[in-house]
Amino acid sequence: MDFELTPEQKDIRDVARQFADGELGDKIAPYDERHEFPREIVRKVGELGFLGALVPAEYGGAGLDCVSYALVVEELNRGDASVGITMWAHNSLCASHIVMFGSPAQKVKYLPPLARGEVLGAWGLTEPGSGSDAAALRTRAELRDGVWMLNGSKAFITNASVGGTAVVMARTDAEKSSRGISAFVLEKGMPGFSAGRPYRKLGLHASDTAELIFEDARVPAENLLGQRGEGFGQAMRVLEGGRIAMAAMAVGIAQAALDQAVKYMNQRTAFGRTLAEFNGLQAIVADLATEIEVARLLTLRAAWLKDMGRPAMHAAAMAKLFASETAMKAATKAVQLHGGAGYITEFPVERIFRDAKITEIGEGTSEIQRWVIAREILQLT
Ligand SMILES: Cc1cc2nc3c(=O)[nH]c(=O)nc-3n(C[C@H](O)[C@H](O)[C@H](O)COP(=O)(O)OP(=O)(O)OC[C@H]3O[C@@H](n4cnc5c(N)ncnc54)[C@H](O)[C@@H]3O)c2cc1C
Repeated sequence: MDFELTPEQKDIRDVARQFADGELGDKIAPYDERHEFPREIVRKVGELGFLGALVPAEYGGAGLDCVSYALVVEELNRGDASVGITMWAHNSLCASHIVMFGSPAQKVKYLPPLARGEVLGAWGLTEPGSGSDAAALRTRAELRDGVWMLNGSKAFITNASVGGTAVVMARTDAEKSSRGISAFVLEKGMPGFSAGRPYRKLGLHASDTAELIFEDARVPAENLLGQRGEGFGQAMRVLEGGRIAMAAMAVGIAQAALDQAVKYMNQRTAFGRTLAEFNGLQAIVADLATEIEVARLLTLRAAWLKDMGRPAMHAAAMAKLFASETAMKAATKAVQLHGGAGYITEFPVERIFRDAKITEIGEGTSEIQRWVIAREILQLT
């Protein structure tokens, strides 16, 4: 067993850390307050090559291994989770789906602009009537005169209105449940394909989340990803990597919460001492630091399994479950350690608290992760 990162992994983590320290954090706060997508900052993420993180070098990407990618995701989310989720949905969902299941022609067409960050990617599985029960999706795709016609909508889609490329799951066979679902790659500008107005959200105010709308959306036949009926299986494979990355996102948010708490505890005095000198508060810090380290290890182990080409669904679910609940706990405790200061927008911990909640919901809720884990342990098919 080797817990040592390679020199390359350390280097890329350090690049992401420096970027997070210099360009995120406080700099993102005004965007968060204005509910504004930080285009300029996301452009810089692209300049560093992080928007091509999972795209192979032959298509212009960085072709990172999963462990390196998890390290980058953690650092960016430590800086800011709005930028973090933007980068995550683009890489882990949209680009990864095309990398894994696109034809050579689809890869040549769609991956290089995604890798360069010229185009942002979105990925649509969730619908107004189906989230956890994703196989119940109702968006239809019918082949008419050699063109797929899509009708329906997707809900809560990251990068929906700022993205230029979207991978979308739609039903091609009404009778077949999950085997009647296919995946398509769509471009903004295709007739009948549009995005709704961005939602107002609890957190992640500087990220873009909106509906994708299909009204007789015309999608060329060659934009089917893989074979007809394979879309649901493809989506589950994509989610495996996506969950590892969302676990890394949660670790970053948890670490940010702890960092803020530590900073505040060393400044704030009460009863003639800094908060850092109170035994009871020290115990909170010790517990959080320990749990964050466990979350990090579970996440990196799941990423390592994926790098080894070994099954990672179970490990990904455990990592995502534990890391997301740790993020929420760390954020809650960090606000408490700030007292009243934790409740006002002047201190970053307020934003971190709002942002943390998404990690228990996106990419499969905590309840669904527990279900995935229990089914394997109980050997239920
Ligand atoms: C900010 C944001 C960004 C998102 N980005 C994307 C994206 O880019 N692409 C995308 O496709 N989706 C995205 N989503 C959607 C997200 O993945 C879903 O919201 C999530 O999977 C939950 O689905 P739901 O909202 O329909 O909740 P529901 O499935 O309706 O669940 C409601 C509650 O019931 C529980 N529940 C449901 N079924 C069970 C069960 N069998 N056992 C126990 N409990 C159960 C859930 O855990 C939850 O607590 C995003 C959501 C948000 C908020």
